[in-house]
Amino acid sequence: MTDQQQEFLRLCIIEQEKYKDIAVKLNVPNSTLTQWYEELKEERQAIADIRNLYTRKKINLPFSEFYSWYIAPERKCHYCDITESQIKMMLETGRLDTKRIATRGRKLELDRKQPNLKYDDLDNLVLSCYWCNNAKTDTFTEDEFKKVGEVFKKIWKDRLEK
Ligand SMILES: [Zn+2]
Repeated sequence: MTDQQQEFLRLCIIEQEKYKDIAVKLNVPNSTLTQWYEELKEERQAIADIRNLYTRKKINLPFSEFYSWYIAPERKCHYCDITESQIKMMLETGRLDTKRIATRGRKLELDRKQPNLKYDDLDNLVLSCYWCNNAKTDTFTEDEFKKVGEVFKKIWKDRLEK
């Protein structure tokens, strides 16, 4: 993807600006924008997935702010350190299974460190794996659950080395 295409994606999908404004800003004709739109289908889908999450959690911040937060951190579970690529690898090699996998597990989820606060406070949000998020519920504090995460981490390590 070129820098200009990246900027197009940002303006079009994240900021949701109009084609005619984007065409002026990037100094390219509408027809080029239409072509890029088609070419960047996968990238658009990835952003759309993040917007769905943003909408589902009713996050009361500009989407661009949430998006920057979401893509910035290293994508691993705050509690047990598992990454999405490690989860994928374990699933594909039969080291991990759950009936829930159709809906949960593959992707890291949003966890509120303090569950009583809203999702709007980005300092209160972390990425968590399904297994940690599911166990933490609204019962354990971040510090308490960090201890549980350490145990999960050891178990994942054993499974990853199998
Ligand atoms: Zn975890």
